[in-house]
Amino acid sequence: MPTVLVLTAHGDDMEFFAGGTIAKLCALGYDVHLVMATDNSKGTFELTKEQMFGLRLKEARAAAEVLGLRSVACLDYPDGELSDVPLNRLRGQFMESVRRLRPDIVFTFDPWAPYEGHQDHRAVSWAAMEATSFASFPLYYPEQLAAGLAPWTVPQVCYFAKSPIDTNRVVDIGGEAIRKKIEALYCYDSQMVLTLADVQMAIGSAPYDIPEITSLDPHDYRAFIDQRVRTTATIVGKKYGLEYAEHFRRTRWGGTERMAPAGSIPAEDW
Ligand SMILES: [Zn+2]
Repeated sequence: MPTVLVLTAHGDDMEFFAGGTIAKLCALGYDVHLVMATDNSKGTFELTKEQMFGLRLKEARAAAEVLGLRSVACLDYPDGELSDVPLNRLRGQFMESVRRLRPDIVFTFDPWAPYEGHQDHRAVSWAAMEATSFASFPLYYPEQLAAGLAPWTVPQVCYFAKSPIDTNRVVDIGGEAIRKKIEALYCYDSQMVLTLADVQMAIGSAPYDIPEITSLDPHDYRAFIDQRVRTTATIVGKKYGLEYAEHFRRTRWGGTERMAPAGSIPAEDW
């Protein structure tokens, strides 16, 4: 079956941006692997850094089990500090994953999308885009080839973003896919508490109240997350006549797709 590699910054990034699509691919039997760059250690208002560090793989593995992933890895860089990591080092680590797993599809952040406020997302986007673009060049990170890996041309990259641009691949995530996306997000308990608490604090800074949100205990986030995820997927779905959808800016076969002979691209099962 095809192999999929997801390159993200934090636990819950994949689930928020592509969880329904990943659930669908896993259900079809695709081998999906996740590499997260950071340890999530700043994603809390109530826990210590050490407590967060202890949770990073536990929560990610629980979510991976819900979705059906093959593997989860964490590069363990400090959360919120990826700008201190040289681009070429992170790019090399992502490229090592690409050359080792030889994915048919890579999912990651879009470096060209606007309004991305998180430096970890920006850092991952540039490193991942370059890693997928240059993994086929043998003189990049030759030590990886000396260690037994081979260059690899990534056939397809699907980019996601908070404010996506030029989306050209929509995925119907109705039914089981959105249910699993939401269930996987619940596995990131620490991050869901944070998500609700963060919205509550933002409302607290406003000249109005939204009592149905601010009156909630942040630990009682399930209905809030469910509604937020469904609303987002509904807005995307409406554009394409679907109940729930996720969408991506996709590049295939190094941009040669536009030169493909008519009828030569097989239909997709996802
Ligand atoms: Zn993130």
